[in-house]
Amino acid sequence: MKLDLPAQIEVIGAGPAGSAAALAALAEGARVTLREKSRFPRHKVCGEFLSPEILPILEALGAAPAFAAAKPARIERVVLHVRGREKRFRLPEAAFGLSRSALDALLLDEALRRGAQLSIERAQPCAAAGSALVLAHGRQAPARSGARLFGFKAHFRAASPAALEESVELFFFEGGYAGLSPVEQGELNVCGLAPQAALRECGFQPEELLPERLLSRLRPLERSFDWLVTGPLVFRNEFRGHASAYLAGDALGFVDPFTGSGLLSALLTGRLAGQASSRGTSLEEYYAQCRRTLRRQYRVAATLRGMLGAGLTESVARWIPGEWLYRLTRPRV
Ligand SMILES: Cc1cc2nc3c(=O)[nH]c(=O)nc-3n(C[C@H](O)[C@H](O)[C@H](O)COP(=O)(O)OP(=O)(O)OC[C@H]3O[C@@H](n4cnc5c(N)ncnc54)[C@H](O)[C@@H]3O)c2cc1C
Repeated sequence: MKLDLPAQIEVIGAGPAGSAAALAALAEGARVTLREKSRFPRHKVCGEFLSPEILPILEALGAAPAFAAAKPARIERVVLHVRGREKRFRLPEAAFGLSRSALDALLLDEALRRGAQLSIERAQPCAAAGSALVLAHGRQAPARSGARLFGFKAHFRAASPAALEESVELFFFEGGYAGLSPVEQGELNVCGLAPQAALRECGFQPEELLPERLLSRLRPLERSFDWLVTGPLVFRNEFRGHASAYLAGDALGFVDPFTGSGLLSALLTGRLAGQASSRGTSLEEYYAQCRRTLRRQYRVAATLRGMLGAGLTESVARWIPGEWLYRLTRPRV
């Protein structure tokens, strides 16, 4: 008699995509092992802007109560600052700001609470015999010559916490941009991209690159930790596939984070990967599903990146309606 054993899933990487995959697979009755190289909580370079569409996904994953308990900041508006001009628009629904140290830890804790096993190790991208493999190890950064962009981030807080603006603001400058947005506990996230050469010149202290408009906002505040820097950032607007594993999140592809939709895509594709791997859905079908979900977002992000890289930031900000920019850079939920 053939016994119907629960599927055994190995997930490499316990970022948002990996933990979402684990939660979705556990909900399907699978046994899950997560392999993660870092101990949580840990900070990560990220703007920490969470699109409103993440809420139903967190609900479906059973992580919405833990998310609400972390008290994410509410974000209602977007403000773009380009060469002294300002463009403002209201988001169709309120977005959220939550640090990656809180978000990643709460998702992982939820997966562990529901029975996932965790192994802290730098894992090889292969699974034990009889297990399905989900690769959620984040973006890969192949060495590349030429101009290279790096990401940077820090948190700032006021000496006496004041009411924070419920806006995410983007400041564009020569070769890069930086965002300012609230996260939990009254802190502000400052995160951006700049050419590696410019960052090297200022000793990886990005304040020196930031426009005065942003700096004047930071001066009365205190930095909570040293600047974190990551890179090179290689944008890959094409999907990668894999012959024997379900890739999810940034492992599938990585678009300019200016779109603020990477975490939403990570949760979406992580959930799909967890379901597909535990149900035995073919890799072909899984990748077709991912393509349908992300294709439009990738195309629009690639076009915008091309325009930003060609110095057309002002045209993007001035001529493209903000609501349009926002909607077209969301994955299809
Ligand atoms: C500068 C910048 C700003 C951004 N701002 C935003 C934003 O505001 N909003 C937004 O939605 N998105 C933003 N993003 C994108 C977002 O950070 C990513 O899309 C998101 O982190 C993808 O999640 P993930 O789980 O796929 O990968 P990751 O978050 O990278 O997680 C991968 C995990 O795998 C682990 N890992 C890697 N290799 C191994 C290994 N061999 N063995 C074991 N573990 C391993 C890592 O330690 C990590 O914990 C930004 C990105 C950058 C670079």
